[in-house]
Amino acid sequence: MDINNHEPVQLLVDGFGRQITYLRISLTDRCNLRCVYCMPEDGVQLLSHSEMLSYEEILKFVNVLADYGVNKIRITGGEPLVRKGVVNFIEKLNNIAGIKDIAMTTNGILLDKYAHDLYNAGLKRINISLDSLDNKIFGKLTRGGNLDSVLKGIDTAKAIGFEPIKINTVLMRGNNDKELMNFINFAIKNELNLRFIEYMPIGQNINQTITSKELIDKIKMEYKDFKPKKIDACSVSKEYYFSSQKNNKAVIGFISPLSEHFCNDCNRLRITASGKLRLCLFYDEEYDIKEILNSGASDEDIYKYLLNILQKKHQAHLFNNRNNKNETNNLQNSNIATDGNIYMNKIGG
Ligand code: SAM
Ligand code: SF4
Repeated sequence: MDINNHEPVQLLVDGFGRQITYLRISLTDRCNLRCVYCMPEDGVQLLSHSEMLSYEEILKFVNVLADYGVNKIRITGGEPLVRKGVVNFIEKLNNIAGIKDIAMTTNGILLDKYAHDLYNAGLKRINISLDSLDNKIFGKLTRGGNLDSVLKGIDTAKAIGFEPIKINTVLMRGNNDKELMNFINFAIKNELNLRFIEYMPIGQNINQTITSKELIDKIKMEYKDFKPKKIDACSVSKEYYFSSQKNNKAVIGFISPLSEHFCNDCNRLRITASGKLRLCLFYDEEYDIKEILNSGASDEDIYKYLLNILQKKHQAHLFNNRNNKNETNNLQNSNIATDGNIYMNKIGG
């Protein structure tokens, strides 16, 4: 059987006509780093083993969703590579009919160790988070991380043939924003696909957010040949390249969830490590899926349960008003989920 040639039984469509085809799975809330923008210094109250969705539960959930049109999965966390059995899990995920695309977001610390096995298990696309190219700053931002391990992980992934490898970078004002040009030169030298993600003040304050536009303007001042690529309607990232022959392999992407949200085309759902469905990164509402998965409900009943929840998906988060001249002030006036207890490691980024 060709597992990619799999026709959905029915589709998951929300109240605004958007079809869900993409699931982001937070595999664990645990992490071997404590990035300043993601987790508090002394960690968070971690889930016990029994509170977490088991691999069997996740696989069952994906199996159901694949029958209803979901074809793309991203594994994230916490740090997905700290969860035992992750390679085996990826292999099983890769065998689910209808799942065409599996990607992972990792901090890269354990990538050198696992890259071969992950690749052989069927993972081909990987995003590696890297917020500083300076040992000291990296250590500070990650509260103890080792930059060399991540760089080694990137090299190993390249050598093995992961394609594409994307580097995710969050620049924060007054923190690591001075490294903008270092990152650009790093991407050019290593022919990388580097994406700047706007800092999202989940549970924190907005003052350090730098909009994509501000970064693009700065890069253009240094590189006159910095040009937008053709817009890919499916991509959440706006991509640029260097049009001169010498520098033309690096791709620089900008993900602007705050200043230019992509809610109109939102095709995604998220599940947290504890089995809570989140309809949007920016709203705190969560819906339990663990109970229904273990209730003996039929796939169709699970579908109906999800379809019902899906009708509550918001049209957009209320962060955006591009007509306002002062973008950062505008962001400050908006209403993001910031109850002080939600951290990105729980939701999965
Ligand atoms: N541990 C993995 C990693 O760091 O790549 C996966 C989980 S992490 C929560 C997923 C992504 O979310 C990372 O690229 C990280 O940089 C990003 N992230 C975390 N907190 C963020 C924030 N407040 N604003 C923007 N991006 C954030
Ligand atoms: Fe861990 Fe990733 Fe959060 Fe950093 S961003 S603390 S690596 S989950």
